[in-house]
Amino acid sequence: MDDSPALGLLERALRAAGYTVSKAQDAEAVDRLLLESAPVVMLVSQNLKSQSGIEIGKKVLERFPTLPILLYADKDDVKLFKEAIRAGLADFLYPPLRIDDIVAIIKHNQKRAEQMGDWVRREVRRSTASLEKRVDEMEALIKLGRTVNSSLDTDSVLTSVVTAAVELTGAEEGQLLLLDEETSELYMRAGRNFEENFARTFRLPVKDSIAGQVIHTGQPISFCQDSPSKIKTAYLVYALIYVPLRIGERVVGVLGVDNRQNKRPFTQQNELIMSVLADYAVIALENAKAFESTEQERQKLDSTLTNIQDGVILLDPEQNILLINPAARKAFGLGFKDLTGEPVLQALSNNEFAVILPSIIDNPLKQHEMMFEDGRVFNTQYVPIPEIGAVVTFEEITHLKMLDRLKSDFIHTISHDLRSPLTAIMGYVELLGRVGPLNEQQQQFVKHVQNSAQNITSLINDLLDLGRIEAGFDTRKDEVAFETILRYTLDNLNQQIIEKGQSLNLSVQDGLPSLRGNPIRLRQLVDNLLVNAVKYTPAGGILTVNLFSEDGQIILEVIDTGLGIPATDQPHIFEKFYRASNTPKNAPGTGLGLAIVKSIVDNHDGRIWLESSVGKGSKFVVVLPVYKADEDA
Ligand code: ADP
Repeated sequence: MDDSPALGLLERALRAAGYTVSKAQDAEAVDRLLLESAPVVMLVSQNLKSQSGIEIGKKVLERFPTLPILLYADKDDVKLFKEAIRAGLADFLYPPLRIDDIVAIIKHNQKRAEQMGDWVRREVRRSTASLEKRVDEMEALIKLGRTVNSSLDTDSVLTSVVTAAVELTGAEEGQLLLLDEETSELYMRAGRNFEENFARTFRLPVKDSIAGQVIHTGQPISFCQDSPSKIKTAYLVYALIYVPLRIGERVVGVLGVDNRQNKRPFTQQNELIMSVLADYAVIALENAKAFESTEQERQKLDSTLTNIQDGVILLDPEQNILLINPAARKAFGLGFKDLTGEPVLQALSNNEFAVILPSIIDNPLKQHEMMFEDGRVFNTQYVPIPEIGAVVTFEEITHLKMLDRLKSDFIHTISHDLRSPLTAIMGYVELLGRVGPLNEQQQQFVKHVQNSAQNITSLINDLLDLGRIEAGFDTRKDEVAFETILRYTLDNLNQQIIEKGQSLNLSVQDGLPSLRGNPIRLRQLVDNLLVNAVKYTPAGGILTVNLFSEDGQIILEVIDTGLGIPATDQPHIFEKFYRASNTPKNAPGTGLGLAIVKSIVDNHDGRIWLESSVGKGSKFVVVLPVYKADEDA
């Protein structure tokens, strides 16, 4: 207030009433004063150094909304006072002024402000307490949530849920009831403040019970009443909350709290918390179920892996062991040491496996034979498994190998022993005509005998050849011009091709490199493929033979427009004695030709495969490595 007699009067009156008075005569000074002291009341005149007192008051109120600010005006001015009230000012003073009146008005406003302050403090305390309670509830819920997600001990999780329900709602007791679908009864899965015996034997029919009603409707129920009502045959309550436990559309149980002694009702907030807790309980139950079924699956898998006779090793992408079964441990003599996480080569420390691993990785799914020093033989297979790594399996085939050898030895011996008597038969049959005249019928019989003996001889020769090739006797290999061999065979077959009215397309690349191999066997190879092409292609068909080199390899393609080989027979076509299901009954042959071809190809480090479709024809492709001078060294 500007200096004036009114200011003097006001100051005196207030000091006399025991107030300390500070004065300011512009807006800046007001700000400074407010920094230094906390006034109980502020008086401002209508005009202060040509500034509006109402405006100054309004600014102060922005920072101190409960400070009572009184406007001093020169006279009773309703318009001005209205404006002051709108700005939030508390009261007015205007002449004539009496000291008592001044003090009374100031005191009145001070008291009101104090009352308001008390109220605000009380309210703040109250809402802080309620907020703290909410925060506590939240914390308890979050903590419980973590337990639910991290623990697989369902009993303790469910007990924690019920305990939290009782503690957070301030209830006397709580229970988690689950539905027994067979008997349509509810039993107590977890309880708080129930006698153990009571809880264990507790059974409540779904029909005619409040909990059952929750199960039926899927809706929560809560009530509070003056006289305790009998909600179950077992006991009486004043207040309760029941919330459903739902899994999808199904209600599988009820979470409940109640008060039996005191009449305190539950709040909506309590009901909300209960429904969150019910969700937790459902998660715990679902987790338990999921864990149980995974565990069951795991056990099934575990016992399968433990009991199968084949060795199984599961690897991660870096070839570290994830799992190794007892059969694999036994095969490599590894005992019971935990090998999880170890690099497989180091863990197995087996030279043979170290050699074979890169090649089985390069050719996944293909079977590879692996021979141990002690003579055991395993069929090994590497199967990549997306997102895990790979599995390596070991199937012991030592006994099969032995049988195969026995069979080969047997065939070899028999073939060998049959050869001499056959030669004798052929010789004597040959002589028959020379020692005396044969009539026509006799000559025909002799022809039959000769044909049959010839067939048996070629079968025996095939068998002996196969025996020799398989045993790896043909170790000698020379530089061979494959083209010469091919042309030689074609010359021999030419007559047959002409007789069947077939046409031949031959294409041989110029300057073909030579091969390293056994010329006799290579001739057999070409011979068998071409003879088959002629034999299994009807009259008038087309035979195509291509010989060329590519990437250091010589490639022979024998293509015909003949019968074709059914897809189901194709995987077996290179097996001994195997003939395709569509082979005509009268087609001569033993089923050994392609087996010999395959053995020869293997023996020359080559590959062979076929593409064929029934009625359209077949294409056999043989790939052999070209000759390299330093290989002979
Ligand atoms: P075979 O003595 O029966 O000819 P192979 O081992 O040479 O024995 O052939 C095995 C079987 O493969 C034959 O019986 C025939 O069913 C089938 N086969 C071989 N080559 C051909 C071909 N070019 N066209 C159709 N089928 C063929």
